[in-house]
Amino acid sequence: MVGKLSGCLPDPHSMETASVLTRNRLQADREVKTSLSASVFGAGPTGALLALGLARLGCSVTLQDPLDLDALGRRSRAYAITHSSRRLLQRLDLWDDLRPHLVPFRQLRLQDEGVAPLVWFGADDLKATNRAHGVIGWILDHKPLMRLLLHRLEQQSDLTLRLGHPPSSLHSESAPCSDLLIAADGPRSPHRLAWGFPFWSRSYRQGCLTAKVLLRGATPGAAYEFFRSEGPFAVLPLGGQAYQVVWSAPLRRCQDLAGLDPAALLDRLATVLPDGLVPDALLDQPMAVPLQLSLAPRLGHRNQLLVGESGHRCHPVGGQGLNLCWRDVADLLDLVERHQHQSMSVRRLVRRYSRSRLPDLLLVALSTDLLLRVFSNRSPLLLPIRALGLAFMQRVPRLRRVALQAMSDGPMTFLQAPPEWRSGGRPDGVQL
Ligand SMILES: Cc1cc2nc3c(=O)[nH]c(=O)nc-3n(C[C@H](O)[C@H](O)[C@H](O)COP(=O)(O)OP(=O)(O)OC[C@H]3O[C@@H](n4cnc5c(N)ncnc54)[C@H](O)[C@@H]3O)c2cc1C
Repeated sequence: MVGKLSGCLPDPHSMETASVLTRNRLQADREVKTSLSASVFGAGPTGALLALGLARLGCSVTLQDPLDLDALGRRSRAYAITHSSRRLLQRLDLWDDLRPHLVPFRQLRLQDEGVAPLVWFGADDLKATNRAHGVIGWILDHKPLMRLLLHRLEQQSDLTLRLGHPPSSLHSESAPCSDLLIAADGPRSPHRLAWGFPFWSRSYRQGCLTAKVLLRGATPGAAYEFFRSEGPFAVLPLGGQAYQVVWSAPLRRCQDLAGLDPAALLDRLATVLPDGLVPDALLDQPMAVPLQLSLAPRLGHRNQLLVGESGHRCHPVGGQGLNLCWRDVADLLDLVERHQHQSMSVRRLVRRYSRSRLPDLLLVALSTDLLLRVFSNRSPLLLPIRALGLAFMQRVPRLRRVALQAMSDGPMTFLQAPPEWRSGGRPDGVQL
């Protein structure tokens, strides 16, 4: 079955029995084609952004999703956007159009329920080029993001949108035959399963409840990350008095909370919010989601690639999820661009993508997991260490800078600076 799907690139193991025609085709596949064709499966925020970037690089792209335009834009959720995502959105010329919908936060308050010291991160703790923006991060609602992405996709030449159709059978002759087959079809990725990619996954005992609420008493322009013994709790500004809360707790408890009537849920919320925050009203239907730590140790094979949550997932603590998915997109676009300028075969591109993404994914997975292990408890052994760590962080700006760079730009920027930093603050050199 996998053979059918990967038919665009013949399996070298079957070469002995291959016809001359097939040999010639294999030879052609190994030669470098400058203009690639790509089929992207999944038009969520990752697949849609990637399809747009590939088309702007001159690739011929087909983007497929069983959901139609309406359904793709309808989710009620908001994403924390970091500077690594800001750079990609600027590079794809989306940033200015998104600006009216981006809610900036200039401060981030880190608090541990079990110990006294509070840490305030400010824009001064950012890397110099990020500091020019005066903002630690932004909150962006799913709806305007998808509206803009889908609008740009519709306008883009050399891009075919197949939305709202049942997915083409993964094993049928009608399966697309492109130079690159890219699964961006989310955490349950039917393509990853059909292609037989190895996958590690561990369910957290925690789930998370997401809800949009009206709050009183919050510091304007601040986001909150509050470590509680049952799990981290984030409060993200959506503009005015509207906030998104992301409440991690045992999954069963999250499901019970999601089933409560609004008044009862607001009462429960009032008991767990950081000091001074008072919930007034619920703005959407809360949702309980199970949480996992998962990673495909190989993100590419032959001409098949995993991008976004089809290849990895981590705990929402630190707001890394979508930003990590978009760093996959940025790295893949870099490689496709290099493929066009240098002699790099598709297979080499796929191998490089897989190798280059793993360190970032592993480091983020390990650090979010470590944060949970250290902070989601009331262990008398860990409490003094946590108190000392937070007190140090509040007193030593350098520590805050390191933590913020890892969160906002990604841990790999300690080894390799993004082009924006090298070009003195201008958006990434290459405009697609
Ligand atoms: C309920 C819920 C709430 C969340 N809340 C937040 C939040 O508040 N903040 C935050 O930052 N993150 C949140 N996340 C995580 C965030 O949604 C993900 O990080 C992000 O959606 C990942 O984007 P993606 O494009 O990789 O995958 P997805 O958004 O999952 O998109 C996958 C797409 O693939 C499509 N698809 C499925 N099967 C096929 C197929 N066979 N062929 C083609 N296409 C297919 C799907 O229809 C879907 O459109 C939440 C996740 C969930 C599940």
